[in-house]
Amino acid sequence: MAKEILHREVVIIGSGPAGLTAAIYAARADLKPLVIHGPQPGGQLTITTEVENYPGFAEGIQGPALMEQFEEQARRFGTEFLITFVGEVDLSKRPFILQTDEHEIRAETLIVASGASAKWLGIPGEAPAPQGLGGMGVSACATCDGFFFRGKSIVVVGGGDTAMEEANFLTRYASRVTLIHRRDHLRASKIMQDKAFKNPKIDFLWNTEVKEILGTPETGGVTGVRLANLETGEESTFDCEGVFIAIGHKPNTDIFKDWLEMDDVGYIKTAGRSMATNVSGVFACGDAQDSFYRQAVTAAGTGCMAAIDAERYLDNLPVPIASGEEITIEGEIVSADHEQITMPDGEVISNIVEEGEAAVGGD
Ligand SMILES: Cc1cc2nc3c(=O)[nH]c(=O)nc-3n(C[C@H](O)[C@H](O)[C@H](O)COP(=O)(O)OP(=O)(O)OC[C@H]3O[C@@H](n4cnc5c(N)ncnc54)[C@H](O)[C@@H]3O)c2cc1C
Repeated sequence: MAKEILHREVVIIGSGPAGLTAAIYAARADLKPLVIHGPQPGGQLTITTEVENYPGFAEGIQGPALMEQFEEQARRFGTEFLITFVGEVDLSKRPFILQTDEHEIRAETLIVASGASAKWLGIPGEAPAPQGLGGMGVSACATCDGFFFRGKSIVVVGGGDTAMEEANFLTRYASRVTLIHRRDHLRASKIMQDKAFKNPKIDFLWNTEVKEILGTPETGGVTGVRLANLETGEESTFDCEGVFIAIGHKPNTDIFKDWLEMDDVGYIKTAGRSMATNVSGVFACGDAQDSFYRQAVTAAGTGCMAAIDAERYLDNLPVPIASGEEITIEGEIVSADHEQITMPDGEVISNIVEEGEAAVGGD
């Protein structure tokens, strides 16, 4: 069957906090954005329970309810949604082409808000409740959930920088943090290891694998973990009230790897002063380009920035790119010092304002 062809000015891949905030801004700018939900409509917050740090909700709000609010707000201004998955993209020229099973989507500007996924161990008890104890003592985000573990004994699984950072952060709340690692040494950088070793609230269990997370929703969630010593093969149970899996994140960016510049892990590189990628007209926001903050509010903030960048770009205004230069939709490049414009045919002209003329770029 022939695919349906859709052509839009702004297409947003992803409906987490970044994508839906971009949609709210683009829709209010009358750009009639199209949001593609992908495999997880509403994004990562739909698999959590209480969100206590999203501003504007003094009493906290359930993750799925928060994302319904985002979507409703985006719909109110005319955002269009598609429940489908983008499997392939061609970003060689505008309009960019996105392939889903049913559609060929042509986008004048593209906002990538495809997020990231925490890596999990794949052991029993780890899945989101009700299948497992995710959200009931199992977490992959200390900044998000550490607050709920005040005075409790918890374990952190991992041996890299993420695990050290999470373990150190969690000692603010937990009575005891036990770091469980499969090897007899850490992968983390020296400075992060030193901080963890010096922290009197952190213990280490070496050469140990977590086999299962124990507990039930009825008994209040996590009660312990089943461990195996990898040297002796001996199994044991370790009592705890929380388990933080800290073995890293994977950005959902594989489909862009032939087109967009990324770091070693796959986080998309953006310009710094804008959310522009290396492809003119493609912007990235949220966890897909943020390996550091990874919060709903920062994702929303960069979603707002990406939408404003797309608006400017469609209005043929210059948008900052990574080199410090600015680029327009017509391919004019304004030099970083704002003194020159390189035209699409290579001609270089002055951007110094002569009397009676207007400059391109700058404040
Ligand atoms: C369990 C848990 C609890 C958390 N708790 C908090 C908290 O309390 N406070 C907080 O601030 N943050 C919290 N976070 C972090 C927060 O959820 C993320 O930082 C935020 O959701 C990132 O938003 P995003 O829009 O960038 O990406 P995501 O929320 O990851 O959304 C990505 C979107 O992209 C879509 N997508 C991916 N690939 C494709 C594709 N190929 N085609 C189409 N669509 C695609 C997905 O379906 C999804 O809609 C938590 C995260 C987790 C996992």
